Amino acid sequence: MKSIAELLAISAALHHHLCPRQVLGVQMGRLAAEVLALELPQSDKRLLTIVETDGCFCDGVSAATNCWVGRRTLRVEDYGKVAATFVDTHSLAAIRVAPHPQARSLAARYAPEARNNWEAMLLGYQRMPFDELFTWERVTLTTPVEAILSKPGHRVNCDRCGEEILNEREVLAGESTLCQACAHGAYYLRAPSGAEPDAQAGRPHVATAGRIPCEE
Ligand SMILES: [Zn+2]
Ligand SMILES: [Zn+2]
Repeated sequence: MKSIAELLAISAALHHHLCPRQVLGVQMGRLAAEVLALELPQSDKRLLTIVETDGCFCDGVSAATNCWVGRRTLRVEDYGKVAATFVDTHSLAAIRVAPHPQARSLAARYAPEARNNWEAMLLGYQRMPFDELFTWERVTLTTPVEAILSKPGHRVNCDRCGEEILNEREVLAGESTLCQACAHGAYYLRAPSGAEPDAQAGRPHVATAGRIPCEE
């Protein structure tokens, strides 16, 4: 196991700075290594991590675990929560970890030199014992690990849109094999054929130009 300082350096390099949520991600990975008795950051694909938000937190989780979307060892189930489930795909042991409800307020006790709340969390989260920083429990996945991982080489085409579907993500609807977008509706709308796409439709509600500050 690398030290917390080494893991935070990896995360900060990915992220171009260090912030409290990265510390939470790194610390969650370290807790998972301890509870699941795994050598992390891993050099294989044994650990599967499911994070419940995107953003800074995930860089910390990746630094501590070596789980990545590109390696199919990190998945995002976007519940908007700084929480994650760590699954040992060999033993099927799994733990879900979330911040302790009092973690924010306790952080200052561990960082008396902090000049503000943000700094108290940045430093305090690195020093707090896991049982004050997190709550965790053993869980069972509702979709089996084998179904999440699927088999390499499996591919079919959607009977409606014709696009290729990997990893057994197709939906069988009667006689048809459909992609999830065709079966359940997609996260995007297509312009009616022949029409220009509606330029206003995808506009963000808030201005995202410039730097978006990290929150705690
Ligand atoms: Zn950040
Ligand atoms: Zn389709």
